Amino acid sequence: MKVNVAQLKRNPGAQMDIRLEGSPPSLKKDIAPEATLTSPLTVRLNLSNTGTVIVVKGTLQAQVLLNCSRCLREFTLNLNVSLDETFRQEGAGAGMEMDEEYGIIPFSGDIIDFTTVIRDNLLAALPMKALCQENCRGLCPYCGQDLNETVCHCRKPVGDPRLAVLGKLLEKNRDK
Ligand SMILES: [Zn+2]
Ligand SMILES: [Zn+2]
Repeated sequence: MKVNVAQLKRNPGAQMDIRLEGSPPSLKKDIAPEATLTSPLTVRLNLSNTGTVIVVKGTLQAQVLLNCSRCLREFTLNLNVSLDETFRQEGAGAGMEMDEEYGIIPFSGDIIDFTTVIRDNLLAALPMKALCQENCRGLCPYCGQDLNETVCHCRKPVGDPRLAVLGKLLEKNRDK
């Protein structure tokens, strides 16, 4: 996902709209160990040359395949991510260290390669805890059945006489 910015670079104040589409092999398989890109990625970007840096704003749209952390089923998540990054020609500006501190990304020559930026933004948009649906019931901890599909009878409290006595004692104390 490389863009030639030779023209833009030479004209302070200039803007450029681009649309990239595809499934870069570098992204397709391993956005994250648990996520797989399943649709071509659509990237819409607006690049503007402020005179000192190139500001890039836009959106990423993609579908990823994830495994639900509760029921372990695979499901597809639509990602719609907004992107806002700043690039600077290598060697220009106050220096690499300052730029790094402000999150300004260096590029060399006339080409900006967006692959890493796109991957990082997709990664940041992935949920910490993937859920196929907000109220996924998950798997029964006793029999392992998917509780979204079946109702099992494991949930009934198993009576342990010793615990029952303890329970009564606790109740008594609470009443006091
Ligand atoms: Zn689930
Ligand atoms: Zn069960």
